[in-house]
Formats: sequence, structure tokens, C-alpha cells
Amino acid sequence: MGTTNLSFENTEIAFRHCSNADLKRAYWLFRVINVNFLVKIGPPITNFAVKIGLPINGLIKATIFKHFCGGETIRECESTIRALAKGGVGTILDYSIEGEDDEQVFDNTCEEIIRTIRRAAKDTSIQLTVFKVTGVARFSLLEKLDAGLQLTEAEREEWQKAQGRVLAICEKAHATGIPVMIDAEESWIQKTIDQLALAMMKRFNGDKAIVYNTYQLYRRDKLQSLMHDHQTVFQNDAILGAKLVRGAYMEKERRRAEENGYPSPIQPDKQAADRDYNAALDYCTDHINTIAFVAGTHNEESCRLLAELLDKKHIDHKNPHVFFSQLLGMSDNLSFNLAHAQYNVAKYVPYGPIKAVLPYLFRRAQENTAIAGQMSRELSLIVKEVKRRKGLRPQ
Ligand SMILES: Cc1cc2nc3c(=O)[nH]c(=O)nc-3n(C[C@H](O)[C@H](O)[C@H](O)COP(=O)(O)OP(=O)(O)OC[C@H]3O[C@@H](n4cnc5c(N)ncnc54)[C@H](O)[C@@H]3O)c2cc1C
Repeated sequence: MGTTNLSFENTEIAFRHCSNADLKRAYWLFRVINVNFLVKIGPPITNFAVKIGLPINGLIKATIFKHFCGGETIRECESTIRALAKGGVGTILDYSIEGEDDEQVFDNTCEEIIRTIRRAAKDTSIQLTVFKVTGVARFSLLEKLDAGLQLTEAEREEWQKAQGRVLAICEKAHATGIPVMIDAEESWIQKTIDQLALAMMKRFNGDKAIVYNTYQLYRRDKLQSLMHDHQTVFQNDAILGAKLVRGAYMEKERRRAEENGYPSPIQPDKQAADRDYNAALDYCTDHINTIAFVAGTHNEESCRLLAELLDKKHIDHKNPHVFFSQLLGMSDNLSFNLAHAQYNVAKYVPYGPIKAVLPYLFRRAQENTAIAGQMSRELSLIVKEVKRRKGLRPQ
């Protein structure tokens, strides 16, 4: 199928994996999320309730968690993995632990990420894996390294251990042949993450990309970094692994820059972020033999552009060097319609203990609030599908 037939409006394909009950739950969830006020007061109330031990885990698990997460364990994600695979969409198991600072938790997280790689090795519907460096290393240690500050003896030891965890994950990925992506985070720890990712790519990427770094194109400097890393890795006779995203920490980045009086690393406006994102797609498709990349986006225009670039440059839809990727519970109209048109698509399936994934869930809720009183995109698609199904029922 060429891109001329590609439509993201087909809600029948988008929601084929959802029962009527699933759609009803999603409808009410997005109705609530649509109310800005509730999304503002929700996180502090929920955090407080969890902290004082109110029994709300069941409520969270049956609602927002069920929509955006696969479960608390890999085993609980199995039905989601199967449902996505039925629609031709792959899974990226994302063990979502954030903001921890305990060495034992870091060791456990490292082991769990290695389990996701082992699970992927058993199944062609899991072609990629992922982790965050802050899942296996202390944020403030990374911050100190990024600022070029002197580490104490104990911190040097701690850093050795953290690097050992990243190495163990990448080694497992290499041994099993399952690529692992390293998520991008705040700019004040990102230089350290980038250096680590580049070192891992030089070590493990040969004629197959095993390690992928993430490029946040909402940053002014990241299109340049992508090209620079490509040249560096290429000189090492290796393929660059790149995940392209716009970036998730814009407000935090701008606030910190203002408070500390340095120029914000973020693009001046959305247009500039879009321009660099789309230029990165163009660059990667131009170098498809030496870059393997994942377009992590919910932006329809960027997805359409990438689909068009593939056709224009005669790149097969199933070329293993290019994946579209979205998050579970969002933009199913993109994921399932792209998969239907035979492109490689995989969705992040976050999982983990409910308390640990709360920050992730709050971010998803915030992203889906209404803009200027309009229905969110997700809600309008759900409404469209509910109406379509009602129309099919005998009157
Ligand atoms: C599979 C996947 C993996 C991801 N991995 C990461 C990751 O590792 N690290 C990470 O940081 N994020 C990650 N994200 C989140 C991503 O960075 C975006 O926040 C999110 O996808 C929204 O951007 P978009 O391209 O989908 O669409 P859009 O809705 O078109 O873009 C919204 C984004 O544009 C940018 N933007 C908006 N307004 C402005 C402005 N005024 N000036 C400059 N930029 C602006 C912001 O980045 C904002 O998030 C991931 C997303 C997906 C789908």
C-alpha cells in the first residue's frame, strides 16, 4: 500500500482490539482527564492518599493504570502483548520506575530490565526494549557528573556500579540480538547519558544497531548531535541507533533555565521543534543503511511525512531500520493504521508497581487535557468509534 491510501481516521482498525466495555472505560477516563481542574488537583490528592495508605490502589488499577499500563509485572502484560500483536503492533516493555535513590532498587531495576530483554528474545512481537539511566543510577550523581564536579571516593564507586548496570543491560541486548533504547531525560543530566550511550554504541553496534540513544528535537542542539554521532559511529564501522522524539520536559527545562539565568536549551517555539524533528526524519531516511531509527511520536504530520519519505526514497515499509512508535493507550489511530499499511510499529507498554508508575500516569493525564475547551483528540476518536459501532447495531 502506498502513502496515498494511508488514513489515520479509520477508527474501526484503530479500536479493533477494544471491546465495547474497554471503549466505555476509555470514554469516561478521557472525559475526566479532559477537565483541567481535575488533572491539576488529581496528582497531589492521589499522592497523599497513597502516602497515608488509603486503599485506592484498586481504583487506580481499574481505571487510569489499566488504560496506560500493561500491568504490574511482565506476566500481567501478556494479554496486552497479544492484543497488540493481533493488530500487527509490537510491544516495547517499559519497566517504569522513576526517581529512586537506593542502590538495592537500582540493582533490582537492572535485573528487571534484563528480564524484559530475555522476554523479548522469546517473541517476534517484541523487537525492541528500553530503559532509563535514572532507573539504574542516582539522579543527583548524574547531575554532578554533568556539571563536571569532582566526585568523592564513595561517589566514584557508586558511578562504577551504575556504569556496570548499563553495561550489563547492553551486554544482554548484544548477546540476545535484541536492541535496547536509552531514553532521554533532563538536559542537566543528558550529557552524561549521551556519553554513556555513545560508548555503548561503539562497543556493541556493528552491522546491527543494538544500542539506540534518544534525540530530543525540542532542543536547539540535537539535530546537530544526531548528525555528529552518526559520523562518529560510522567511523567506527558501526550503525547508529537513534530514537527521535520531540521531548517531554519543556516546562521544567524553561523554568530551570530562567531560575538559574542561563539560555534555555529548548527551541524558541513549536514550529522550530517540528522543523528539526522532520529534518531528523529526512536525515535518517537519507542514511537508512547506516542509521536504524525509531520515530517516537504521536504527531500525525510527522508520521505521514515519514511514511511519504519511505515511499519517495524506495525504502521498504518493513525495513528493520525504521520503526514508528507510540505509547500504550494513546494514538491507536496512528499505530494500528500504520501497522495495517505494513509499517513496523511498536508501542511502549509501561509496567511496574502502581505507586512507582504514578508520575508516568500523571504526565499522560496532563498531556490529554482539553485545549481551549475542545475535546481532546483521543476522546473525539473514541466518540467516533462508539457512534460507528452503535450504527452497526440493529435498531
Ligand atoms: C515511543 C515514545 C518514546 C518517547 N521517549 C521519550 C524520551 O526518551 N524522552 C523524552 O523526553 N520524551 C520521550 N517521549 C515523549 C515525547 O518527547 C513527546 O513529549 C511526546 O511524544 C509529544 O510529542 P509528539 O511528537 O508526540 O507530538 P506533538 O504533540 O506534535 O508535540 C508536542 C511536543 O512538542 C514540543 N513543543 C510543544 N510546544 C513547544 C514550544 N512552544 N516550543 C518548543 N517545543 C514545543 C514538546 O516537546 C511537546 O512535548 C516519547 C514519546 C513516544 C511516543
